[in-house]
Amino acid sequence: MCGIFGIYNHPEASNHTYLGLYALQHRGQESAGIVSSDGGHLHHYRQMGLVAEVFSREVLKKLPGKSAIGHVRYSTSGSSELKNAQPFVVDYAKGMMAISHNGNLTNAFLIKSELESKGSIFQSNMDSEVIVHLIARAKERTFIERVVHALKQVEGAYSLLLLTEKEMVAARDPFGFRPLVLGALKNSPVVASETCAFDLIGAKFIREIEPGELLLINEEGVHSFKPFPTKPHHQCIFEFIYFARPDSFIFNHNVYEVRKSLGIQLARESPAKVDMVVPIPDSGFPATLGYAFESNLPLELGMIRNHYVGRTFIEPEQRIRHFGVKIKLNPVRELLKGKRIVIVDDSIVRATTSRKIVKMFRNVGTKEIHVRISSPPITDPCFFGIDTPSKKELIASTHTVKEIQRFINANSLNYLSLEGLKNCVKGEEENFCYACFTGEYPYPFQMKFD
Ligand code: AMP
Repeated sequence: MCGIFGIYNHPEASNHTYLGLYALQHRGQESAGIVSSDGGHLHHYRQMGLVAEVFSREVLKKLPGKSAIGHVRYSTSGSSELKNAQPFVVDYAKGMMAISHNGNLTNAFLIKSELESKGSIFQSNMDSEVIVHLIARAKERTFIERVVHALKQVEGAYSLLLLTEKEMVAARDPFGFRPLVLGALKNSPVVASETCAFDLIGAKFIREIEPGELLLINEEGVHSFKPFPTKPHHQCIFEFIYFARPDSFIFNHNVYEVRKSLGIQLARESPAKVDMVVPIPDSGFPATLGYAFESNLPLELGMIRNHYVGRTFIEPEQRIRHFGVKIKLNPVRELLKGKRIVIVDDSIVRATTSRKIVKMFRNVGTKEIHVRISSPPITDPCFFGIDTPSKKELIASTHTVKEIQRFINANSLNYLSLEGLKNCVKGEEENFCYACFTGEYPYPFQMKFD
């Protein structure tokens, strides 16, 4: 779970990268970083924290040059600390290079131990650093050839950006797990995880970078390469369910439309006899709208979110009380008393959220609480860039739906079926990865477990 952004040949490169990352903040809130190129040298700044906390006008002034790449991080590989923040920068025999990577490599630990046995020294415990080492060791003449040489050795999920003093490379793995889009700000090429980053800076969306495609961006323009054998596509369906922003266009669809159709499908599969549908802000909103629309039920804002809760909130005194989800969400008491409601959320991971939310509704006298989930049960961990916990922590891997319903204390619980999910991307269902719901991973691999 990370967001990446890059811009080539623009006088305000680092300022636009800052804005691009700001729009991609939902993809990672642990750390943020920007690397810029002034044509002869790379300048970088990375810190733990949100984009707006990490960068000030003064910091951005120290990132000069006409090209820049940036990264927001939510760790899925490597621990949450500054040495693992990206973009990752190195100075090697052939110059400088920086990388911003979204996704997880499944053979990184094998390559890493092989390289270490040959004397390589790693600065971080991120899988992305493996790519940098492979590029640095490659004997090929040009940068793009060295990148291809490196990427041919790695397996797994990567949407990435590389920056040197003079060039930028964008690449998406042959399975296409993570999104990556190409745009233009006047004559300057821009690349981002999602199109919402283009909207903020006023860039035009050109197209998605294809699975297995590399773009070399330099003074002569944008050149496309497809050096890998074609593989079946396995785009991450969870980007549609939860992760991407609803205003983005990725994987050939607007995320909002897909998410709303999940709610419509869910209403067809699992209707409920209730007085109203109540959305849980914010991630469940589009699916809830779809559910209410299809069931012809009133939609009421029965749960209100405090939008000013940041990560910096410190509970005044543990002994006063433990706030938990209450600090963020509060039900509208008068609306709910004695009522039967349906709540729709996008997913259940450990079920702690749904359990707390149902309890809050019960506490204000809601008569019946029916829970609908706009994805199938998550039974298996993701190894391709979504931060899901190990199998034993995923409640649906060890409990039946009825048991989960009892655990969260709901009057009924229904998930969207896998067929229903596929129906929402009809005609393209073969292009997506459903491994977190099926345990059927796109290819065999051996993972190192910490
Ligand atoms: P849980 O309380 O563990 O069941 O988490 C479920 C909630 O977390 C849902 O409301 C989702 O919106 C959200 N969610 C789902 N997947 C993730 C993820 N990978 N990281 C953070 N939040 C998630």
